[in-house]
Amino acid sequence: MRSWSAHVLLWFCLLSLASLPSATMANGQDDQAAPSDTISGMIQQLFPKATRIEPKQQDYPVYPVYQLNELLGYAYESSDISDLPGFSGRPIRLLIGLSATGRFTGIHILEHHEPVFLHGLGPEPLYQFIGQYQGRSLTEHIVIDSHKVGDAATDGVVYFDGVSKATVSVIIINDTVLSSALKVARHKLEGFAQAAAAQPIMDKFEPLNWQQLLDRGYVGHWRLELADAERSLGTDLGSYPSLREAEPGEAFTELWYAYINAPSIGRNLLGDDGFARLQQRLKPGQQVLAVMSNGLFPHVPEDFKPGTVPGRLALQQSQLAVEMRDMDVLDRNIQLVADGIPAFDQANLFQVGGNAGFNPGADAALILNMELPRNHLMIDRAHFEVPVTLPAELFEQLTVEDATPRAPLWVGLWQDRWLSITLVSISLILLTILFTWQRFFTRFPRAVHGFRWGFLAFTVGYLGFYAQGQLSVVNIYTLLLNIYDGFNIGIFLLDPVIFILWTYTFVSLFIWGRGLFCGWLCPFGALQEMASWLAKRLGIRQRRIAEPLHRKLILIKYPLLIGLLGTAFYSLTLAEQLAEVEPFKTSITLYFYRSWPFVLYAVALLAAGMFVHKFYCRYLCPLGAGLAIIGKLRRLNMLDRVDLCGSPCQLCKRRCEINAIRNDGAIDYDECIQCLECVVILRDDEQCVDSISQRKREQRAARQSTLLATDASRHSRQTDPI
Ligand code: SF4
Ligand code: SF4
Repeated sequence: MRSWSAHVLLWFCLLSLASLPSATMANGQDDQAAPSDTISGMIQQLFPKATRIEPKQQDYPVYPVYQLNELLGYAYESSDISDLPGFSGRPIRLLIGLSATGRFTGIHILEHHEPVFLHGLGPEPLYQFIGQYQGRSLTEHIVIDSHKVGDAATDGVVYFDGVSKATVSVIIINDTVLSSALKVARHKLEGFAQAAAAQPIMDKFEPLNWQQLLDRGYVGHWRLELADAERSLGTDLGSYPSLREAEPGEAFTELWYAYINAPSIGRNLLGDDGFARLQQRLKPGQQVLAVMSNGLFPHVPEDFKPGTVPGRLALQQSQLAVEMRDMDVLDRNIQLVADGIPAFDQANLFQVGGNAGFNPGADAALILNMELPRNHLMIDRAHFEVPVTLPAELFEQLTVEDATPRAPLWVGLWQDRWLSITLVSISLILLTILFTWQRFFTRFPRAVHGFRWGFLAFTVGYLGFYAQGQLSVVNIYTLLLNIYDGFNIGIFLLDPVIFILWTYTFVSLFIWGRGLFCGWLCPFGALQEMASWLAKRLGIRQRRIAEPLHRKLILIKYPLLIGLLGTAFYSLTLAEQLAEVEPFKTSITLYFYRSWPFVLYAVALLAAGMFVHKFYCRYLCPLGAGLAIIGKLRRLNMLDRVDLCGSPCQLCKRRCEINAIRNDGAIDYDECIQCLECVVILRDDEQCVDSISQRKREQRAARQSTLLATDASRHSRQTDPI
């Protein structure tokens, strides 16, 4: 593509951005128009016994619902209470019914733009997910864990079936439902109001040993004797094969808890260094509760997965379940080191707060849920409440305005995906090293080829199928809408892998251009390369499109990009549907498990790629087009060329499978996927025509100088006097 036309496209995109407000505003007005009779009908479904639905309240945006004069509960629109954006960048609008006793009566979806539910999995899994809230109480501890759904009868803990492939959207919906319901409960429901928040006094510290911490109540202690456990379970402990025999004097459960953020507790328990290291890891407002236990039934089982929500233990305050999640930080760097501290069977630092928030100045309770199988058919259950009262002298009361906000949602998501983040980061570092020193590495063709195929396998298998790191033109919509809405980086941080890849790709565009992503980091691009490799193994002849036609066809992807972006300004929903021109969702997100037209389309593109190398990338991909446009601003043209390239030598051009080398030998960086093949040829003395002819010239010159030297010596021997 000629440079003037690329600049026109670049300007078009920038102008489109500038025109975004008016277009999106029109769309936004549509979104607001929910007819009141529609809402009334939905509320009636949420409260079938309702005889009266009051208008939205002035003091708090909820609809009170009555049966005659009895208050049944409240209905409210989540977007009036919580502005948490969805994965698409737009809030998920829900109509939620909450009974006067704090139970969900049901949820209706008013509007959402979550791509995976719109056009990927379809709406059914979303309906099934939100259907799980009906009848659940705000006092219950809701854990999204599909593997444990059968355990839902455990007291106080409810396991929800998540939606694989839509993990982030489901977490956002759960957060939206719970955080908005808790706010409504606190404002409107009796018994749910929370005491004024408190925070630890950070300059209050006194060195104390373990016994002193216990004596002062800085570390709470609770013990459940064997006999009490038997009484609650209603049978002898010998009936439970999973329990070992108790040592003399051993408790069924002996548990200690401590609020780590208070320096008099945290510094004494973790030591000054450990406390400082923990502080560095904490986000503003993040609160930490240490729980340690010994005995036959510790607070977490031996196979407890670090970093997750405990199933046995829950925290409650003001009748509300308070989120607690293991921080997975107790290691060599951070340990429990107080003088005289005993050994524990289990010890964890839990991040507490989440949706409900946690007020250390108010009473709370740890709920120990006991579940013991007698045999395959019988499971006995009991639960115990451990009162949690923290020492008032270590805290100061806060006004509501002073209260530190809780850690944002993305923080937990990054903690959960630390392994993916680490692997993706390492792979990007390796790629950066290769590209930075490519002049050196391309001298070793076998190593470069091996690394490239290994990397492509990683891109398809791990980055694509496992970590769901396929960038898409839909991400560009999200960015544009987000810029219009005032830019909230929190939306992008919700998916750490996509965030890291986008950040890296964006920066790399200004250094190396589009090829680094398209040649190495795009899962569908890598899948096409594998299809092409397979085709060659099957003996399928690779077609080369004639140069003039190829030059015209590569322009198709640009109008596609412009059309999609233009549509996004007009209607996000339509743009998301049109984005199905990308086969990414079908192939990478849904593993080809989808209705047949989508599968047929994706397979057809891969099949086309078996005849024409990376057919989709070259001619159709709107994302590739967008990257090529921004890539025009790159700083480096890193692929070396020599004088003979193109005139007369055409070897690299013939070997460039994507046809990104022009007849004159110049590289078309808008098309090049930086596979490095042409540079490998250039550095190879056996392949590069320039090197071969130079070597021949050198050999000829060497032969001639040898000849001359021989002649000279013969001549000198002939003329030497005897
Ligand atoms: S052109 Fe599109 S499909 Fe091909 S590698 Fe680039 S982004 Fe991926
Ligand atoms: S062979 Fe060279 S020009 Fe062709 S895609 Fe690979 S790096 Fe780019």
